[in-house]
Amino acid sequence: MESHKNPLDLSLLPCIQLRGVGKNTADRLAHLGIHCVQDLLFHLPSRYQDRTRVFPITTVSAGDHVVIEGLVENVSMPKGGRTRLLCEVRDPSGRIHLRFFYINALQVKTLQPGVRVRCFGEVRRGTHGLEMIHPEYRLLTTDTLLPVDETLTPIYPATDGLSQLTFRKLTDQALALLENGGVLQDIMPTSLLQKHAFPALKDALSFVHRPPPDAPVDQLMEREHVSQKRLVFEELLAHRLSLLHLKNTFQIQKALSIPQKDSLTQQFITALPFALTAAQVRVTEEIYADLQQPHPMLRLVQGDVGSGKTVVAALAILQAIENNYQCAILAPTELLTEQHYRTFQKWFSPLNINVVMLSGSMKSSARQNTLATLANGEAQVVLGTHALFQKGVEFHKLALIVVDEQHRFGVQQRAMLREKGSYENCYPHQLIMTATPIPRTLAMSVYADLDYSVIDELPPGRTPVTTTVITNLRREEILNRIHDACAAGRQAYWVCTLIEESEVLQCQAAENTAQEMKAIFTELKIGLIHGRMKSAEKDEVMTAFKKGDLHLLVATTVIEVGVDVPNASLMVIENAERLGLAQLHQLRGRVGRGAVASHCVLLYQFPLSNLAKARLAVMRETTDGFKIAQRDLEIRGPGEVLGTRQTGDVSLRIADLVRDSDLLPAVTQAATILINQHSDIVSPLIKRWLRDAVKYGHV
Ligand code: ADP
Ligand code: MG
Repeated sequence: MESHKNPLDLSLLPCIQLRGVGKNTADRLAHLGIHCVQDLLFHLPSRYQDRTRVFPITTVSAGDHVVIEGLVENVSMPKGGRTRLLCEVRDPSGRIHLRFFYINALQVKTLQPGVRVRCFGEVRRGTHGLEMIHPEYRLLTTDTLLPVDETLTPIYPATDGLSQLTFRKLTDQALALLENGGVLQDIMPTSLLQKHAFPALKDALSFVHRPPPDAPVDQLMEREHVSQKRLVFEELLAHRLSLLHLKNTFQIQKALSIPQKDSLTQQFITALPFALTAAQVRVTEEIYADLQQPHPMLRLVQGDVGSGKTVVAALAILQAIENNYQCAILAPTELLTEQHYRTFQKWFSPLNINVVMLSGSMKSSARQNTLATLANGEAQVVLGTHALFQKGVEFHKLALIVVDEQHRFGVQQRAMLREKGSYENCYPHQLIMTATPIPRTLAMSVYADLDYSVIDELPPGRTPVTTTVITNLRREEILNRIHDACAAGRQAYWVCTLIEESEVLQCQAAENTAQEMKAIFTELKIGLIHGRMKSAEKDEVMTAFKKGDLHLLVATTVIEVGVDVPNASLMVIENAERLGLAQLHQLRGRVGRGAVASHCVLLYQFPLSNLAKARLAVMRETTDGFKIAQRDLEIRGPGEVLGTRQTGDVSLRIADLVRDSDLLPAVTQAATILINQHSDIVSPLIKRWLRDAVKYGHV
């Protein structure tokens, strides 16, 4: 029990010592990563409710969380539907409805015409104009004047069965300890605090947990207050430091150094039907320089869809092969694995390089054979999904791992990969390829543990895809366009999407659409591909489409990444409004890969919200992945841009990468200063803010 040494060190004082915390509550807190009083103080309110004033009803609008007060007028209990009780409240300025879906007998009895109520809740637009659904309310007797709250009410995030009230009681105690001699080290150097005119940690924390009555409400709600900014800054700094730490620990590891050799490379380049773009050459040289180091490369190559990342990967792989090492290529789906397998076989067989594939659908005997060739070094290049790094896969001399379409891999997966592939105390080099365009400020924060190259040039001769946004009410017209494209010898995709996560339903929708298309276009050959088909079946369909044996391919979003059929010039995406812009951009990248002018039709369900309209308009206006990502970031936030699986990497408490992006340059600068001049505080700062995430970085 370390806490007995200095009970007032808040980083050592366990929560269970607080009043009202038993084993049960302590366990729940621990589940949220809150173990000591310091953790509790750093569990910051995610927002505030303003119950400090009563708003006249006419001044409120949909989306506001407000207090209103008025006289109950009409009360009705509608028949049918979910609504149990609807009551109209009027104040001198206007009226609003309260809607209840469940309500007990006592409430029904007391909510009668003529009583005065004070309500707090979110205002929404309903069938009768503005309404509040399930507001918190109190009945007022006419002669009492109920005082409003003096301070903003903090709302705590992710409470895991613990009520807001519990959190308020606990933070009350924690703040009292902080006031009365509890020790919480202010880790940030004074020089840094002065430079940004930041308040001391203690003051910032008390302010953010319990804004005083005279606090500027609007500033706090917008998180513009200097106390909030200080904590945001500290959090961003801790994140950046942890990623830099990760990078440093990785960079001092050993790796097989791969000296540059050119014989296979020359043969390969000579055989290519095109010349490399300047960007491809530049990025390849950056990779070569990394590979020659005796430390593992960890490089992210970003290149828009169709920029030719695969060739760059092949050039890196050839270096390892020339030096008698093995390489592994990881793809996110079996479909993409198979496509890469064909590409690499075509490229590498003439060079006598043995390329193999491990897939989930392989027969056990075939799999055993392949595994044996990997273990004895006969197989030089292996392709597979991340299942490649499951138990039982042994390599002879693995020197390089290529991860394609990286947005599905987070920090943790990267760490796992390098552990699995280690050889004689050497870690394999890692080359990570992504088409996800990441705005630079964001990349610097989220991928600070990686080196970063950009293929910022498309191969010559591509005609940009034109995009139209059309309501599903005009589906007929689209069918004509499909007919015309196919009659002209081109091919088309029809992509079915559904909002449900359920793959079953998605596949069902694709099956129905394929049936419908077959009935309409009796003269066309129509294929279907979705995630529930067997690998061999998918392979067959894809090959047929690639060879031009199929005119129209009805698909789910399985074709999102990497699929390459240059003759396809038309893509229709159903329910486009339901997809993220990054995903739409990926999908659209499947057309416009040849010299012919291509089209993408985004079909949406009528009617479309203004936000959705704005988002789809972005797709119409530009085909530049970077611009799309930047706009998506502004409209939807980083979780969407990076893909949902990645958001686990950037779970921030108080900072927000978009809103606070103006702080990022200063954070970057401060991180360098801290590492150079205050290295002793780096680790405590990371531990304070990242808690459980720390284990991935071995801090
Ligand atoms: P992505 O970056 O989206 O993975 P790919 O590697 O699949 O792109 O390349 C897209 C297409 O462009 C492929 O057909 C590829 O052969 C072709 N390609 C790659 N580099 C060049 C180049 N320098 N000139 C012309 N075509 C190229
Ligand atoms: Mg690709």
